[in-house]
Amino acid sequence: MVMAKARAVDGPHQSFRKADIQRRELDKHDVLLEIHYAGICHSDIHTAHGDWGEAHYPLVPGHEIAGIVKEVGSDVTKFQPGDRAGVGCMVESCGSCENCEAGEEQYCLKGNTPTYDGVDKYGEPTQGGYSTHIVVTEDFVLHIPENLPLDAAAPLLCAGITTFSPLNRWQAGPGKKVAVVGLGGLGHMAVKIANAMGADVTVLSQTLNKQDDGLRFGASAYYATKDEETFDTLAGQFDLIINTVSAKININDYLSLLRLDGTLVNVGAPAEPLDVHVFSLIPQRRSFAGSLIGGIHETQEMLDFCAKHEIMPEIEVISADDIDDAYERVQKSDVKYRFVIDTSTL
Ligand code: NAP
Ligand code: ZN
Ligand code: ZN
Repeated sequence: MVMAKARAVDGPHQSFRKADIQRRELDKHDVLLEIHYAGICHSDIHTAHGDWGEAHYPLVPGHEIAGIVKEVGSDVTKFQPGDRAGVGCMVESCGSCENCEAGEEQYCLKGNTPTYDGVDKYGEPTQGGYSTHIVVTEDFVLHIPENLPLDAAAPLLCAGITTFSPLNRWQAGPGKKVAVVGLGGLGHMAVKIANAMGADVTVLSQTLNKQDDGLRFGASAYYATKDEETFDTLAGQFDLIINTVSAKININDYLSLLRLDGTLVNVGAPAEPLDVHVFSLIPQRRSFAGSLIGGIHETQEMLDFCAKHEIMPEIEVISADDIDDAYERVQKSDVKYRFVIDTSTL
């Protein structure tokens, strides 16, 4: 067993505390990763607060994990000690259902095993990246390319893949007009990735406060959604809209911005249902879709794409003592654009 230092929370809206957790002995296919950085995703906050249903406490969140391989099991072929590696939102899946076989492990028909707040194949609760070490089967560990610093690479493991996957699937590229709703952790990555794919990108943020950043990330236009005129000006303009907002919004206003056959993909995951009027969809044969992270192969593709295009998240590295403050700030949309915990401070 490896003892890891961690930060855990014991219930909804409680403060983080120091914790020691055990990581399992290495199985033949396991990799022991020394975690250097862990991003703070809004999903960590939804889970810790019980927004999506009661979590299992004590809970160690964190699924944007980057570090260095320390040890590998006897049959591991993809990694060796010293490798730069990452772990994202899932650590196992059945491996044999049709979705796993298609490389879509996130949609495993038996349910993927989330990196935290799940139960692994040994029946043990999974605990995430706000910790110094993690043991994961090699098939769910990613290679982090050399030119991506580990601190900035961490958020790619969730924010990066969650936006890359729908942009890839719905073919954001030259000639496509893409809108990104919400310029937070996911949103700013969506802007950078869609721009690198060659699409024309517009940001729809609550205000114009972050306009300079949005344009710097590669958007060609930036609108405030608090300004009602925005919805008249942009009616029927977009091929694809990626909604990253963590709260309930009037989704019909945004559907009205799609052109014929356009699709709005919701990756934001508020607990409350969104009220979709069918008459927001019918007139222009529009689609309303959802998307969950991405498969392991696609996650590696995303990391390699970001390395090639030199795309990196904008991060603020924090100490473990600042997790509670960071949670407050994320909930106020006061983050530019991802908090990343330096795990040496655990
Ligand atoms: P985040 O950094 O907090 O960004 C969310 C952004 O939404 C904010 O920066 C803000 O952008 C906007 N926003 C927040 N509250 C709003 C409100 N009441 N009305 C309108 N806009 C609002 O969060 P994140 O880490 O990017 O995650 C976003 C959501 O995606 C969360 O719900 C998370 O759980 C979910 N998620 C889903 C997946 C998936 O696989 N589908 C994966 C990861 C995360 P502006 O300031 O620009 O308005
Ligand atoms: Zn996440
Ligand atoms: Zn499966």
